[in-house]
Amino acid sequence: MKVKQLLPKWCWGIFATICSFVGLCDLPAAEPESRPNILFVFSDDHAPHAIGAYDGWLKSVDPTPNIDQLAKQGMLFRNSFCTNSICGPSRAVIQTGKHSHKNGFMNNGNTFDWNQQTFPKLLQQVGYTTAIYGKSHLKGNPQGFDDWQVLPGQGLYYNPDLITPDGRKQVQGHCTDIVTDLAVQWLKKGRDSSKPFMLMVQHKAPHRNWMPAPRHLDLYEDIDLPEPATLFDRWEDNAPPARFQELEIDRHMHLQFDLFVDLLPTFDGQSVKGRVDKSAWANMKRMTESQMKVWRDAYGPRDKAFHEANLKGEDLVRWKYQRYAKNYLRCIRGVDESVGTLMSTLEELGLSENTVVIYSSDQGFYVGDHGWYDKRWMYEESLKMPLIVKWPGVTAENSVDEHLVQNLDYAQTFLEMADAKLPADMQGQSLVPLLRGEDPPKWRDSIYYHYYEYPSVHMVPRHNGVRGNRYKLMHFYEFDEWEFYDLETDPDELHNLYEDASYANQIQESKNDLERLRDHYEDESVGGAKPAEWQRKVRGL
Ligand code: CA
Repeated sequence: MKVKQLLPKWCWGIFATICSFVGLCDLPAAEPESRPNILFVFSDDHAPHAIGAYDGWLKSVDPTPNIDQLAKQGMLFRNSFCTNSICGPSRAVIQTGKHSHKNGFMNNGNTFDWNQQTFPKLLQQVGYTTAIYGKSHLKGNPQGFDDWQVLPGQGLYYNPDLITPDGRKQVQGHCTDIVTDLAVQWLKKGRDSSKPFMLMVQHKAPHRNWMPAPRHLDLYEDIDLPEPATLFDRWEDNAPPARFQELEIDRHMHLQFDLFVDLLPTFDGQSVKGRVDKSAWANMKRMTESQMKVWRDAYGPRDKAFHEANLKGEDLVRWKYQRYAKNYLRCIRGVDESVGTLMSTLEELGLSENTVVIYSSDQGFYVGDHGWYDKRWMYEESLKMPLIVKWPGVTAENSVDEHLVQNLDYAQTFLEMADAKLPADMQGQSLVPLLRGEDPPKWRDSIYYHYYEYPSVHMVPRHNGVRGNRYKLMHFYEFDEWEFYDLETDPDELHNLYEDASYANQIQESKNDLERLRDHYEDESVGGAKPAEWQRKVRGL
């Protein structure tokens, strides 16, 4: 056997270079790079059902032509899930390949320990050049990147600040376009082209509050979007937490902060009807006069018509849903255009054939489903993440994978793509065999979930749970409330079967599975306290 067959490719390159340098052996220089580049395009709160290729109920308005094209060229993962459905924690899981309780970033309020092992650092060690642009949401200066520019916290949609290795600066434009431009510039001029690259393009969009670029403000304005079947769900069969949340379009979505009503006709930071929501204004005040004019022209007449209609009850919910979902999809259109720009840039640079392109988002989202916006729950709409991978020569075109996969798996996947060693302490499974179209005999048959951020905005209690191919068990452990769903007969999760004796065996199996996975992932962060105020709420039902 030849020496090169005994060594991973990255190791061979180093070995050959050293031998050549010291003249010990007459070997050719390092082989031409065969490891792929990795382009990771990651948005914030983009629900799979708001992607055409996922065949959800929003497909009819063709929300994502470029992302759909990517799916046609690669593999779409239909059962892709997060471990903890919220922004920062999802990113920390991706960086580390470890559940929240292991990487230490359980809530958005936490600060990520950048000194720990992350996959970009490991890629650098095997010769990759790396960069990240856009939303980090992990606080602190990113480590493991040769270049980076990130938004402070959530960042602003218009004319945002960026934190860079040289300090903080303000950049003019819409955030999605700015992040795309940074990525394109790095691809064209910034990177060390002698190395394979790993580039993370992390959009703020379509995160709340949903502020599209000026060119998208009229998109969908001439149509009514379809409504989700569960828009008027009253959560009658759920455990009590679903009735005590604060993420309803009806009761909790703000006309000013979320929908810009009465903020925009004058849009001077003063008032239209006497009071302007200060936090809503904070998101707007960076706009230039010309940007404001486009907004005034678009929303002024719509607000006037809204007041004249004097809507109440379900009609008002329907109106709020339309305004919200249209702005959400307009933000997504910007992200979709970014994907198109990045794909054409790869083409232009001759990089298409040796670059893996991944599209994903940190969790799913409620686009009026169950009457909600936001995420956090282990219910399907926020548990699912989009995951589409184009890997020329490896993934079959227009293919669909049904295995249960998670953001927990990304780090090991990227490392295996790069021929790097997979650390024993990462907790996921490399998706490379699935990308090759294989059906590995030892693949997981259930996923583990754990959400922590409570009490907090939207008031979704802590819960953990397991989701298999058919059943889902959820435990709001601080209040010992359980839910159990049969996803085959009830994909919208409207019928909680936890008290149904005919499912007793399946429920017990899921409980055993929950304990097994909790042990497997060494999760000792499950609490047991029962705050008195919750008891009063529940008893008062
Ligand atoms: Ca998010």
